[in-house]
Amino acid sequence: MTNSMQNGAQNQSQNHVQNSSQILEKDLHEKFVFYGKNAREWMRKCALLLPEINRLRIWEKKGFENIYEYARILAGMSTNAVNDALRILKKVEDKPELKWVIDKKGINAVRPIIAIATQETANFWAEKAMEMSKNTLECYVKEFKKEHTEAKITKSIFRPSTESGHSQNLFSELKMELDPKIVDQLNKLKGQGNWNELMQKLLDAYQAQIEANKPIPQENAKRYVSAKIKNHVLVKTNNTCAFPDCTKEYKYLHHTWRFALTKTHDPDTLIPLCKAHERLAHAGLIENENQPPQFWKIKLEANKTSEKWQKVDKWVSKYYT
Ligand SMILES: [Zn+2]
Repeated sequence: MTNSMQNGAQNQSQNHVQNSSQILEKDLHEKFVFYGKNAREWMRKCALLLPEINRLRIWEKKGFENIYEYARILAGMSTNAVNDALRILKKVEDKPELKWVIDKKGINAVRPIIAIATQETANFWAEKAMEMSKNTLECYVKEFKKEHTEAKITKSIFRPSTESGHSQNLFSELKMELDPKIVDQLNKLKGQGNWNELMQKLLDAYQAQIEANKPIPQENAKRYVSAKIKNHVLVKTNNTCAFPDCTKEYKYLHHTWRFALTKTHDPDTLIPLCKAHERLAHAGLIENENQPPQFWKIKLEANKTSEKWQKVDKWVSKYYT
């Protein structure tokens, strides 16, 4: 055998060892994922039985000290897990729709809606819990509460409008720590006017400056967004999520008309969003999505006959959940 032949044989056997160890690792991992999935499913089934076992004091009849010992020894459940299961299952007692969600996705899946769902709305919330990940659902509930308790925001004050006694404007307070020189300048600019008008003027000037440098849309584009467009879009919110009232850092540049449908990166409809708000957009739950983000709010149902849903969001949200 020549040297090179020997080397060749050695390489081959090394490759062989490498391949078989890769196969072993893949196999171990796949088994773990499979068993883990099943373990979780069985644990969910155990949790669902706990209220009834507790009510009938079956643990006592079987010689256990209490329900905790029973669940720990027989199913490896922690005290916290038992308390949690009993507490949450008590709350869904009269809501079979939510019980069904727990059966399919576990207790965590209903946690965000447990305080908000009523018997009347359980069906609505169960649907949302099935369609969304826990994080997206949390975000949705937050927006939902905001919209339905707007008048209760403690930081805000009502002022009767000067025109008519009926309509009221909502003002929010914003506390800022500023350099005294800046304060002096701002006070001068405000003069005899009011802060709202001054701030609007400053914002308009800032936005006009950004608009003046707006790049043209990239048409027939690839996925990649040009630096020019990206910078323009991000400077509008200073890298912040554009959803009303959200101050999280952006994570995605969201195409409100869906890139897959337009193949265009349009600086006017490319919107920086945090993860949760991007998920809500793809759940089809943003009202007025085709308008600028200041007009956005969440909606109750996605329009599942729209092209956006049929061709894009349906698949994206499937992937996310
Ligand atoms: Zn956000």
